[in-house]
Amino acid sequence: MQPRQVARVAPAVLVGAFLIAGLGAQPPTYDLLIRNARIVDGTGSPWYRGDIALRGETIARIAPRIEGPAARTIDAGGHVVAPGFIDIHTHARRGIFDVPTADNYVRQGVTTLIEGPDGSSPLPIKPFLERLAALHITPNFALFVGQGTVRDQVIGSVNRKATPEEIEKMRGLVRQGMLDGAFGLSSGLFYVPGTFTPTAEVIELAKVAGSMGGIYISHMRDEASGILNSVRETIEIGEKGGLPTQVTHHKVIGKANWGKSVDTLRLIDEARARGVDATIDQYPYTASSTSIQAALMPAWSLEGGRQEVLKRLQNPSMRSELQKETARIILEERGGGDPQNVQLARCDWDPSLAGKRLGDVTKGRGLPVTVENAADTALWIVERGGCSGIFHAIEEEDLQRILRHPATMIGSDGEIPIFGTANPHPRSYGTFVRVLGRYVRDLKTITLEDAVRKMSAFPAQRLGLADRGVLREGMKADIAIFNPDTIRDLATFERPHQYAEGVDYVIVNGQVAFEGGKMTAARPGRILFGPSTKP
Ligand SMILES: [Zn+2]
Repeated sequence: MQPRQVARVAPAVLVGAFLIAGLGAQPPTYDLLIRNARIVDGTGSPWYRGDIALRGETIARIAPRIEGPAARTIDAGGHVVAPGFIDIHTHARRGIFDVPTADNYVRQGVTTLIEGPDGSSPLPIKPFLERLAALHITPNFALFVGQGTVRDQVIGSVNRKATPEEIEKMRGLVRQGMLDGAFGLSSGLFYVPGTFTPTAEVIELAKVAGSMGGIYISHMRDEASGILNSVRETIEIGEKGGLPTQVTHHKVIGKANWGKSVDTLRLIDEARARGVDATIDQYPYTASSTSIQAALMPAWSLEGGRQEVLKRLQNPSMRSELQKETARIILEERGGGDPQNVQLARCDWDPSLAGKRLGDVTKGRGLPVTVENAADTALWIVERGGCSGIFHAIEEEDLQRILRHPATMIGSDGEIPIFGTANPHPRSYGTFVRVLGRYVRDLKTITLEDAVRKMSAFPAQRLGLADRGVLREGMKADIAIFNPDTIRDLATFERPHQYAEGVDYVIVNGQVAFEGGKMTAARPGRILFGPSTKP
């Protein structure tokens, strides 16, 4: 075929082309050429060998062999070339203004961060996104509007139903959030003030997000003994709200509840079978992380904000009631049955506590390590200003069962730590590479292609990001190149500040952001705007 095509070209044109080439004036055809790639395209299809050529921010060509010329060529050496990972659940506004390069994420191959989960978002959204755009960040960034933040602004942190006027106001704030660029509505019905919200009220707000093309994503009301009803509630909100719905960071908390993922996944399957677009995301660790007070104190005791909480703790009869309830939570829920299963992550009033176990802190106060004394220590911590904590109360088998489910995608629930500061949950440094190292290569829980799908095409499809998440001509060039034999997480609960290993290159919008073990000077990240954004 080739010679015949050439023969059809007029001789004058050929002469002209040779002349230009001879003068050295012809620009390279491609800006970046990735050769010798094992392409895992994000769709879940088996990997294949090929070359990928980029022009500007776009994937210009994918073929078994591309000749170029190109301004720059990267030899992937047979390593995996995948779409850059999209993290659908992050708390990246914790840290992005200190570390705009988001090293902990980019070094894992993550190229897009989604903020505003758990019902908590910046509000209004517009000035936040403008500030972020002016900052010039490395990964792409997008967000949800938070139901808890919206309710807090209209009603405050109180335990009561909203009036019809207040619901109208909240619907207005959700509408504005969607117009400003949100991808949907998040909720944190476990937290204050989300926990005070009746299901019907969430549905009224979800309808607004849904009518504007958004999704609903929820940190459920209860991930412990009440988990089945919480999954039912999440499904109901999607069904009655008329929008896709997602159980975020799905896990089963507390030994007494382990194994219930069999039933939670059955509920998801049944919902999907009758046409409800219900999905899941998950991080690959058997410990969760949130504040000590949210995790270990009952929600009713947190109404009204810090001053009200302190008043309750100063009332002796109420304090002893709270101590009993906290002891129960340590035994049966987030405490994992043992004070040593609660680890402090960050305490601003005493940074030396970071990393210590609740049992050891109890001992340090001169008390025998009993569950009752550990509960007292938890309340003592809250009185002094609180800490964030890590809670070892999840079963490996539940984790793997959820990971294998086809409707589960990966999300870190992490943040952007300042390297070396405090003792954060290792998920911020390791989520994506841990799935690829531990659960794909070492344990073979899922295949490489499926893992990449759960990190790229699947979240992209969930968010309606039509031009990212798949390696295909015409798509935005967000790309991760890694060695499947060496990729792994090094961050542990004891030593979390350790970057991922095994990632060779990370490309964001066509620009190399990470190579040779170092972040580059490029800051190619974009703000991504949701389906109803008004310019
Ligand atoms: Zn959460």
